[in-house]
Amino acid sequence: MKIKILGIFTILIAVLSLAGCGNQDEKTDSSSDKIQVITTYSILYDIAKNVGGDRVEIHSLAPVGSNPHEYDPLPKDVQLTTDADIVFYNGLNLEGGNSWFEKLLLTAGKSGDDAPVFRLSEGVTPMHLTSKGKESEEDPHAWLDVRNGIKYAENARDGFIKVDPDHADVYEENAKAYIAELEKLHEEAVARYQEIPKEQRLLITSEGAFKYFSAAYDFEAAYIWEINSENQGSPEQVSSIVDFIRSKENPVLFVETSIDPRSMEMVSSETGVPIYGKVFTDSIGKPGEDGDTYIKMMKWNIDTIFKGLTEKE
Ligand SMILES: [Zn+2]
Repeated sequence: MKIKILGIFTILIAVLSLAGCGNQDEKTDSSSDKIQVITTYSILYDIAKNVGGDRVEIHSLAPVGSNPHEYDPLPKDVQLTTDADIVFYNGLNLEGGNSWFEKLLLTAGKSGDDAPVFRLSEGVTPMHLTSKGKESEEDPHAWLDVRNGIKYAENARDGFIKVDPDHADVYEENAKAYIAELEKLHEEAVARYQEIPKEQRLLITSEGAFKYFSAAYDFEAAYIWEINSENQGSPEQVSSIVDFIRSKENPVLFVETSIDPRSMEMVSSETGVPIYGKVFTDSIGKPGEDGDTYIKMMKWNIDTIFKGLTEKE
């Protein structure tokens, strides 16, 4: 009996490994020698795409338009992460919600110290949350300061070179051209905002995602809730921002594309201040639509915020 079970077991293992081999062959045939990349959300997807160019094939876990603070990986995400040559994540507490990313790396066998997993915010000076009891938590939205976006691109470049050193020159060149564009974008933003008097530089959004942006471009940021979590848009949060808006002269409201707009709509109807426009925070736009790259989303934000604060009477 024991032998019989063992026999069946052996056959099963043999069949499984044959199936495994089949998949391997298929993968090698179809995807050539491209580096398989996983990013946790769409902004890193776009930065990695610019630096990796033709050498890489990328899959973003949290899809375009979704909230990466809390993501539930699908079975195919586990498979893709297991097969990936390199994984890029933001860090600074972004992927910390219900520990989804940590669990995913563990399941995918990529949790060891030598795993090809890179934090793109490496080297960024972290800012912290200010809500009571949350002061020790880092604010993840570093990419909204373009200078940090440059750091992300450098870290992606270094990660690619580590995993695929034979093509270091390709990554160096791609990163150099991309970083030059980002530097130009940052300088344009600084120059443009100098036209707006300091006291008018107030940015009101649903989530308090603009800390790094505000520090970089000298704005005051106000919000309904500080960071996306389960309880956002509570009656207390809404009434507090409503009071704040009523105390300001000519406040302007913006709403993020990756967020349920109803809280901001409620704030708008209670204060009689219209929502001026959309801004991108935690996701790029859908392919072919507004803001569908990191550079385009930042340009969109810089432009929309500028117009919103200067066009009103
Ligand atoms: Zn966010």
